[in-house]
Amino acid sequence: MSLKNKTAIVTGARQGIGKGIVLALVKEGCNIVVSDIVEDDCKKVVEEIEKLGVRGLAVKCDVSKKDEVDNLIKKTIEKFGKLDILVNNAGIYPFKSFMEMTESDWDKVMNVNLKSIFLCSQTAAKEMNSGSKIINISSIAAFVGFEGLVHYCASKGGVNAMVRALALELAQKKINVNVIAPGAIDTPGATSSEEQKKQTISAIPWARMGTSEDIANAVVFLASEKSNYITGQVIVVDGGWTLR
Ligand code: NAP
Repeated sequence: MSLKNKTAIVTGARQGIGKGIVLALVKEGCNIVVSDIVEDDCKKVVEEIEKLGVRGLAVKCDVSKKDEVDNLIKKTIEKFGKLDILVNNAGIYPFKSFMEMTESDWDKVMNVNLKSIFLCSQTAAKEMNSGSKIINISSIAAFVGFEGLVHYCASKGGVNAMVRALALELAQKKINVNVIAPGAIDTPGATSSEEQKKQTISAIPWARMGTSEDIANAVVFLASEKSNYITGQVIVVDGGWTLR
């Protein structure tokens, strides 16, 4: 399943699931644009991956801002001359009760989690050739309600729905567009107390939280030629959580 010399962009890549995806794609031989809102951390990830024998580029990009997304794609093409794989991973999940949620709380989550997929995918698709892959990270929160995450659940449901239409349009260019919906993954963004973790684990048939590698393995499959006939689909990676 070699992805040797493919160029991939991963957003929200300085830590957590995004960094896990970067490391898994590097193992397959990809050159990577490491993008996040904190540039210094992106540079550290690039230093780390270049020691593993691939080429990297750190680009600061707030995925909710069109000018920054345009710059991300421009810098990618300047350095690598092509773009084969886009992983729309950046996302936020700030807990807020529905009755206290402000318009600006709602807009922020929608812009970072949903509008970003429109901005990044459209700008990337203009540069992509046949055989390219767009992979989006949504969440089981698209299927299951979580208290305190009304905006988040809506945004991730939006990603799943949007991708079906997007995959239809991009089929003309033979670009595959798919979604991975993670369950509970142990990342810096999802920190919780040991007690909360125990409670979460008790709801998971696999009896453990997921790791960034669990998600990254599915990304590698969707980034590879093995997935060429799969488009517009959502792959749930949750240790069985949503089966109950
Ligand atoms: P994380 O540890 O918080 O990492 C996400 C990264 O994205 C952070 O570095 C974050 O920076 C960055 N980011 C935030 N806003 C951004 C923006 N506007 N533009 C670019 N980057 C931005 O989160 P994670 O747990 O790895 O989650 C990654 C993705 O998986 C998200 O889409 C999330 O919704 C999804 N997901 C996670 C879980 C889970 O259990 N962890 C479950 C289902 C789905 P800051 O830290 O500065 O905000």
